[in-house]
Amino acid sequence: MSATATVAALKAHLADLQMPGSLEAVDDLLRRLDQGALSPADAMEQLLAAQVALRRQRRLQTAMSTSRLPAVKTLETFDFTFQPSIDRAQVLSLHELHFLERKENVIFLGPAGVGKTHLAVSLAIRAAEHGKRVYYSTLADLVLSLQDAERQSKLRERFITLKQVGLLVVDEIGYLPVTANGANLFFQLINARYEKASTILTSNKSFKEWGAVFGDSVVAVAMLDRLLHHCHIVNVKGNSYRLRQYPGLSMPDDGLPPRRAGRPRKSKEVPQPA
Ligand code: ADP
Ligand code: MG
Repeated sequence: MSATATVAALKAHLADLQMPGSLEAVDDLLRRLDQGALSPADAMEQLLAAQVALRRQRRLQTAMSTSRLPAVKTLETFDFTFQPSIDRAQVLSLHELHFLERKENVIFLGPAGVGKTHLAVSLAIRAAEHGKRVYYSTLADLVLSLQDAERQSKLRERFITLKQVGLLVVDEIGYLPVTANGANLFFQLINARYEKASTILTSNKSFKEWGAVFGDSVVAVAMLDRLLHHCHIVNVKGNSYRLRQYPGLSMPDDGLPPRRAGRPRKSKEVPQPA
């Protein structure tokens, strides 16, 4: 076969195999091969890498529309130097996603603004890029959706759907208290997913305080018993990234900046370090 015919056949194969990423990369790779700027092995690797990158991007687009992830947050934009309490090796290793294969959970604990949601979303995006079904919700929204399903006698279907999600992210445990019925429904969900699929949770409250969050220490203990059995805990102790211009400002557990006594702060006024 002539060189031109070989290239045409190569492109036909790539089209037949539905590999538009590789198809788009092939001319440039062949040119760099001709110039001696690439080894044949590198060229083959990059041909396939172009397709893998496109697939990843498409999976991410699908996940962003179906998983309700709030924003694209990745490890690349996470500044570990700002949060030295985070065990970087642990977070990097979690991003290899072995916890998903082992159906283990991940819990991010720490005050407001320290990057819990960022890292939870980053793991979820990595999982979505690897073809996992991902679903994100705050605890408050999740409980509302379960109560809604219960009212419509569709709780069983809702549990089945949520059980099939490969990675469930439950954000913001602790900002809003949960009713007894809500706690019960959430416990049932955790129980249904126990050892079957991974869940990532974030909380500004220590485990001891979960009894108060769920209004019932027995339910909270039973829930933690399931969640912590196979679990990675990332404890973040640090300052809010949102308030990084104000290093003296510490955040209480309610997630709101500390209020000064006296007149309320005007919106334009910049809080000064204590
Ligand atoms: P939390 O969920 O702990 O309250 P977030 O993850 O929502 O905090 O972080 C608050 C904001 O600050 C987000 O926009 C997040 O992307 C950003 N952020 C937090 N920590 C870091 C960090 N170490 N490096 C870069 N951005 C960060
Ligand atoms: Mg958050």
